[in-house]
Amino acid sequence: PRLDGMGPFDPALGLGLAALLLGGMRLLPFVLAGEMAGPLLHAASPLALAAAIVQGGVTVLAWGAAALALRRWADPRLGAQRDLVALILGATLAALVSAAAECGARLWVEGLSPALLPWSCLLRGWISDMIGVLVLTPLVLANRSLPLAPSRGAVVEAAGQGVVAVGLLWLLFRLPSAANLQLYDLLVLPAIWVAVRFGVRGASIINVVVQIGIVAAVTAQAMEPDDVVLYQFRMLVLTLTTLVLGVAVAERRRAEHELRQRQDQLARCSRLSLAGEMAAALAHELNQPLSAALTYARAAQRLFDQAGADPARLRAALDGAADQAERAGLIIRTLREFIGRGAIDRQPHAVAAVIRDALALVASEAERAGIRIDVACDRAIPSLAIDSVQIQQVLVNLLRNAIEALEPRGGARRVVSVVAVPDGSGGAEVEVADSGPGLDADAAARLFQPFSTTKPSGMGLGLAICRTIIEAHGGRLWLAGNGPGGCSFRFTLPAPAGEWE
Ligand code: ADP
Repeated sequence: PRLDGMGPFDPALGLGLAALLLGGMRLLPFVLAGEMAGPLLHAASPLALAAAIVQGGVTVLAWGAAALALRRWADPRLGAQRDLVALILGATLAALVSAAAECGARLWVEGLSPALLPWSCLLRGWISDMIGVLVLTPLVLANRSLPLAPSRGAVVEAAGQGVVAVGLLWLLFRLPSAANLQLYDLLVLPAIWVAVRFGVRGASIINVVVQIGIVAAVTAQAMEPDDVVLYQFRMLVLTLTTLVLGVAVAERRRAEHELRQRQDQLARCSRLSLAGEMAAALAHELNQPLSAALTYARAAQRLFDQAGADPARLRAALDGAADQAERAGLIIRTLREFIGRGAIDRQPHAVAAVIRDALALVASEAERAGIRIDVACDRAIPSLAIDSVQIQQVLVNLLRNAIEALEPRGGARRVVSVVAVPDGSGGAEVEVADSGPGLDADAAARLFQPFSTTKPSGMGLGLAICRTIIEAHGGRLWLAGNGPGGCSFRFTLPAPAGEWE
């Protein structure tokens, strides 16, 4: 029996499936009407009419079931390989059922026994349904929305791909021999180019272009049905290749995009936590000058109330209060700038001067506790480009920690030493050591973590901030020595490369 006359592919089915996937099952009647209209209008006999109704019903039921399953278990955006595999599987099964319905209807109309069902009929029906769906359904699914503002480069590249594909098609049409239809395999080159660059969107568009070319060539050359099937299989392979490639490219792009987003988030988080640390540090650092200012102010009040008090002492107390208030302001300003710019204000400073300034700020505390502070600063240390207020801050923190470690201890040796030496490469290395009790292993391990403290009123931020400041200067801060004889901290201040002589 002759069972030819089937088109090389069936576009209505591909568009119908896309409509069901996007619009839902309520569109089923419209898909049914689209599928039935042609056969109903062209039916030559009541038998043919009945066959067409049965065939259309079975076809739409099969594709409706496929759409239902795909809507349930796959994402119609075809964003991942598993969605594409689901589409291929669903299409394979539904195309088998609809091809069987079509062949059955023909056998029925022509009064042949089902045992005569030729496999070639089934194969041709199946492949033309498969191609119709795999070429057109992804076209609709992947291109539902236009890309937002494509870049100029992308537009130029897409135009280039279009020129290559259409030029190749034109060339193939101009070639005289029918054997040259094999050269259609060349179309795989622009197809892969498009899929690699434009993902599943591009793949679905180039598949339509290639398919149109092949249909035109097959029609123009009035090919034998068995030859048509051969080209349909090539088309199927090409379609699957470009779709799989396109989805892989889209998946990788999405993964890269997600990675970038996550990195951005991380950067934002760490900036926020730095700002949080800074805010806590501000509270920590301001506490000292503010309470010192309060002490000076109270002293001034007492002197003021005393009859015959020494005006010079009153003046000194007021100066002390003013100095401390000024220092509080400076701390706020520096920290605000540090957060705002994320940078440090490097100016050339003598390390000895910075140490001297820091000592002046803790001198009264040390004196009260009966602690001697020894300083040894090597003259060979050059001026360094540093933020003096911040380095002062580091020294004050280390010195205050040392003083607080010594305070509760009695005994003769209550000494803190500050030693600064050149580091051998144009910078300096500074050590702050005490003769206190040292640290236990647990405390030493968590030393630089924010909020780790052993002090009842401590915040555990001092050393964390110190390390941040030293690292922002390109240096390191570490626990250099620890034992029952006391502990020592060291930090380096490297010379910034080529900035200062
Ligand atoms: P805070 O001083 O607010 O507690 P720090 O970060 O300055 O926070 O110090 C964390 C902890 O490290 C302190 O609570 C203390 O236990 C320990 N520590 C720091 N310096 C010394 C030191 N010189 N001797 C002994 N312990 C120290």
